[in-house]
Amino acid sequence: MRSTIILGVIAVLVALAACTREEPATVNDGNVAGEDAAQEITDEFIREIIAEISSDAYEGRGPGSAGDAKARQYLARRLDDLGLLPGAADGTWEQLFDLVGVNSHQPAKWTFGGPDSSLTIKQWDDFIVNSGVQKERSEVTDAEVVFVGYGIQAPEFDWDDYAGADVTGKIVLIMNNDPDWDPDLFAGDTRLWYGRWDYKQQKAAQMGAIGTIIIHTTPSAGYPFQVLQNSGAGAQFELPAGDAPRAQFNAWLVEDAARELVALAGQDLDVLREAAYNRDFEPVPLGVTTSIAMDVEITRVQSANVLGLIPGSDPILKDEVVIYSAHHDHLGIGPANDDGDTIYNGAMDNASGVAEVIAMAKAFKSLPVAPRRSILIALVGAEEQGLIGSQWYAANPTFAPGKIAANLNYDGGNIWGETHDVTYIGLGKSSIDQIVTLLLSEQGRVVKPDQFPDKGYFYRSDQFSFAKIGVPAVYLDPGTDFVDRTPEWGKQQVDYYTEVHYHQPSDEYDPNWNFDGMIEDARIGFWTGLAIANADDMPVWNEGDEFEAARIKALAAEQD
Ligand SMILES: [Zn+2]
Repeated sequence: MRSTIILGVIAVLVALAACTREEPATVNDGNVAGEDAAQEITDEFIREIIAEISSDAYEGRGPGSAGDAKARQYLARRLDDLGLLPGAADGTWEQLFDLVGVNSHQPAKWTFGGPDSSLTIKQWDDFIVNSGVQKERSEVTDAEVVFVGYGIQAPEFDWDDYAGADVTGKIVLIMNNDPDWDPDLFAGDTRLWYGRWDYKQQKAAQMGAIGTIIIHTTPSAGYPFQVLQNSGAGAQFELPAGDAPRAQFNAWLVEDAARELVALAGQDLDVLREAAYNRDFEPVPLGVTTSIAMDVEITRVQSANVLGLIPGSDPILKDEVVIYSAHHDHLGIGPANDDGDTIYNGAMDNASGVAEVIAMAKAFKSLPVAPRRSILIALVGAEEQGLIGSQWYAANPTFAPGKIAANLNYDGGNIWGETHDVTYIGLGKSSIDQIVTLLLSEQGRVVKPDQFPDKGYFYRSDQFSFAKIGVPAVYLDPGTDFVDRTPEWGKQQVDYYTEVHYHQPSDEYDPNWNFDGMIEDARIGFWTGLAIANADDMPVWNEGDEFEAARIKALAAEQD
């Protein structure tokens, strides 16, 4: 891998007609133009963008709102000022997409009937349910509940929780997470996509299920039930429904309610779960039936990904691209906090990531010769609603998936100063690991793996949309080991932010924020993209990675 990087750097040097053609000792060494370009990433530049789009004038940048449109215009102008080209297919800055708002009026109570008795549970305390369809009414009548274990079909692990059963027209009861007791099975305690609720719901619908119920436990979800209670209020935005099958409803049940539900069938939840830990598990029809109906308010709005392009300098490789992504949206206007503030400014989440990526674009534009491959700055929309803008890009890419060399995603920059480390979400998955590790070592810093592998962060920001179409992707997050601080200090800052400001009106820009660490992180991002854009070969997923098959397919499509 190292030789690939060095070849890339040599290519830069040749392209720049630099005075030396000797092999550089390190990735950076001798790349004077790159060094100068990296210096273009400054505190002042980052600060101005964050302060601007997180100000109240942008109303929290809720998708489809006036503030959202205003932010998109501002960002396009900034990219234009830097000399990027409009990156959307129609020659504009904006790749527009429609959003469907689905506001489910959840029933207050829900009743299940067993052979001998019935059970009625309460909305909010016991269950949360959303419409699975984009229609005015979601309805299921007298459908049977079938326990399907983890609800996973994974041929590469020889695992099929739907084996020997037909769940067409049934409601499936599903455990959260994926098998986590064996490092060779679903990556041990690292949560793969198979362990996420969105996979489970999609899979169940594909199998013909008419409704889904996920059994919520805090360890298996990675967050408390309260997160589901809060996210259930108001409209949930989605891309317009396509041809993919959809269940009528998707629900979450607290563990106690699930226990009572299976008890109606004379079953014990622990015994059922025990059975689901085995490869030879087969779905268990419970002989319990239920009906549920909801009115659904449907609204339609539009948002957009802001796309800016730096064409590559190599006549052939310029058809390939390195994509930097950061979501520009936040939560908009919502419930007031204790101070009466209703604007969810999203300064750290994700005005900071947007500023960081635009600063990298500035560095690329200041190179005397552009990198061999093209660079696309993708400031995507509606991330908070479920990675919608990046999903739309992945479904309608401006470069074919097999021509996208890599995706580097930024969601939340470092506002607390210099660190000895960078948190690397997606470490161990692709050959990008070696590039970042080497570049950091030149700064005297280190890579830290995801500190919460069970939470599945790789699947919770926009890099996931790119990975799904096969693109080697990483999410580089701030480190936690701060210079001249105790090792605990960084974690305390992150925990405090998460508890007090995350997704709250108080995520506001503070002039005291220290961008020294973010500047270093942005320079690493710039150097990483530069090495990838100049290398002879594109990065690859590690052998056996969950996204390798998608990559092989994408590359093959370019061969035909
Ligand atoms: Zn975010």
